[in-house]
Amino acid sequence: MAKALTEVLRDWEAVIGLEIHTEVTAANTKMFCGCPVEFGGEPNTRVCPVCLGMPGSLPVPNRAAVDWTLLAGLAIGCDIAPWSQFHRKNYFYPDMPKDYQISQYDKPFCERGSVLVEVDEDGINERIDRADAAGVTLADDGKSYATTIGITRIHLEEDTGKMVHLGGSEGRIAGAVNSLVDFNRAGTPLMELVSEPDLRTPEEARRFVQKLRQIWLALGVSDGNMEEGSMRVDANVSVRKRGETDFGTKAELKNMNSFKALHDGLAYEIVRQAELLESGGRVVQETRHWDASRKVTSALRSKEEAHDYRYFPEPDMVPFEFTAEYVEALRARLPELPDAKKARFIAEYGLPTHDATVLTADGDLAAYYEAAVQAAGADRAKAVANLVLGDLSAYLNSTGLSASDSAIGATDVAGLVALTEEGTISGKQAKEVFALMVDTGKAPDVIVAEQGMRQLSDAGELEAIIDAILDANPDKVEGYRAGKTGLMGFFVGQVMRQTDGTANPRLVNELLSKKL
Ligand code: ADP
Ligand code: ZN
Ligand code: MG
Repeated sequence: MAKALTEVLRDWEAVIGLEIHTEVTAANTKMFCGCPVEFGGEPNTRVCPVCLGMPGSLPVPNRAAVDWTLLAGLAIGCDIAPWSQFHRKNYFYPDMPKDYQISQYDKPFCERGSVLVEVDEDGINERIDRADAAGVTLADDGKSYATTIGITRIHLEEDTGKMVHLGGSEGRIAGAVNSLVDFNRAGTPLMELVSEPDLRTPEEARRFVQKLRQIWLALGVSDGNMEEGSMRVDANVSVRKRGETDFGTKAELKNMNSFKALHDGLAYEIVRQAELLESGGRVVQETRHWDASRKVTSALRSKEEAHDYRYFPEPDMVPFEFTAEYVEALRARLPELPDAKKARFIAEYGLPTHDATVLTADGDLAAYYEAAVQAAGADRAKAVANLVLGDLSAYLNSTGLSASDSAIGATDVAGLVALTEEGTISGKQAKEVFALMVDTGKAPDVIVAEQGMRQLSDAGELEAIIDAILDANPDKVEGYRAGKTGLMGFFVGQVMRQTDGTANPRLVNELLSKKL
């Protein structure tokens, strides 16, 4: 039985660096030809002589893809190379018809950036040294921390095609594996981001990719769809004894295609490497595959016989020179990014950090929230956040809708908040109204009128109910007066039960305190 990750991490420190490929879907067309960039489609229908690698065809760089890559770099604080070029990376693979990939080598477009990663209660226990590690900022309540992850570079390249392997009877040659190739994806603009080996836990790695995806979505550079392969993560990981300063030998986990796979694959690999070293073995530098169903990693190929790709400058394209004016004009196009939006939500709406974090993690939800606050008034910003993060998010999760596709509009959310805040209906009734809004599509005030809902705020009526409850529970009244103030909850609960949740809670508390 393998040890638990947190146990292993007491003696061992993990070192993780990620290589993340993102398709620049915003570019609409391929990197060096005019074929469309779109997921799926009949195989080999989105191709031309350039992306099929026909001899004599010439690549023409896609300016939009270059600009998007520079924007991505600027969004994470990278320096933009004043001078840059493409290289040929030579190797054979059936899904790459030219036998070389046009990529970048020692002159990437973007270098030296950083991404702020925040880890909350779900993952804080993986970071054993959180309180004293350099670069880690622990929150005042000790329940979360932030750490800055260095970005080595972002370069631009072309994606490969896709192989489809059909087994046995599926293929045309019975009993053999038949491999088909689809070049629709070949030539799609692909950004490759390489991080510094600054990540220390699987949770940090997961949060890092989530954050990066949020930034890409806020920019609009990619649809960020991991299931469709728009973002693909290779994770490099090694372990070293705590206190050690040299890095250990790393293994690379290829193509982690979900946040859970990334976390769980790394957790498994860290435990495997530590146990191997503890038992006197040694880690070999290799590429490994995470099998999410069997929950193990296994060796794919050894990296020790490293490829020599024989990079050389792409002779069919001139180099790039970006002037400072060009870069600044791009920088001016940057939208508000997630960190800035979160800080603004805290400052402008007075939201707790947690609310601001969740609302701004999804740009669509953040825009919806702001529209609702606009309609409800800034003094109701917190009440709107409660509804958006509560009932509305539950509804969106269960239907799989995004906030902008929601059948419940932001103004209806504001209307429901107003009905509750003005005391027309109780909090419990608001939940019923919300459910009816989902079922009927009607506006909240219409539902309240139709259902004849109102909050019981008549002091006389409430007093009568409270007197009856106090009379029926003399022992509890005595207990409360003897100092068991926790019994207040019991009395409030009784009033709520008898009024079917319609009693105004503020008034109930007031009257109870007076009478007790
Ligand atoms: P390679 O030459 O094998 O491609 P690189 O130095 O280019 O290695 O680094 C590739 C990725 O691996 C980077 O994200 C880097 O941060 C990470 N990395 C490098 N060395 C280690 C290590 N010892 N342990 C974990 N990650 C590492
Ligand atoms: Zn093409
Ligand atoms: Mg490398």
